[in-house]
Amino acid sequence: MRLMLHVCCGPCAAGTLDHHRAGASDVVGFFYNPNIHPFMEHQRRLTGVREFATARHLLVREDLGYDPEHWFETVRGDADERCRRCIAFRLRRTAEEASVTGSDAFATTLAVSPWQDHEAIEEEGALAAHATGVEFVYEDLRHLYADSRRVARELALYRQKYCGCLVSEWERYRERSETDTG
Ligand code: SF4
Repeated sequence: MRLMLHVCCGPCAAGTLDHHRAGASDVVGFFYNPNIHPFMEHQRRLTGVREFATARHLLVREDLGYDPEHWFETVRGDADERCRRCIAFRLRRTAEEASVTGSDAFATTLAVSPWQDHEAIEEEGALAAHATGVEFVYEDLRHLYADSRRVARELALYRQKYCGCLVSEWERYRERSETDTG
């Protein structure tokens, strides 16, 4: 089975690549994450993915399309809907890439993160699979999360402190800000 693996960042790839390689004849990565703000943060994570790919001899295709206005227009809504649409946006693009490159299936490194909406990953991946005719492989890989951080440290990969969008970046500080009345 030829698997296209959507890669959100170096650490999540570090935790899941061996697992996917064990179950596929060939794994090709795919970087498409226009949800990462600001642009230089996107570049930092891309660099981390490239460093990991070099270290582990992983071919990673890249779609570096980056259009914040389009992304915000696509995902706007309440918090739950925003994340679901964001996941759907990236998985649909991955499924299309898998289709045109002859992959048998696609998966995402998001499945290793305890911070992601796994129900949305599974459901939106299935919808993207239905739309493109390429199988979506969903597995709950959260038990590999600690490994992903350990390997990322060993390889000195960039480790981000928030999910990706400006809203998630703000959520790092929101609680502190709301309790800090000066
Ligand atoms: S928090 Fe993460 S998954 Fe949710 S919209 Fe922002 S970047 Fe996307």
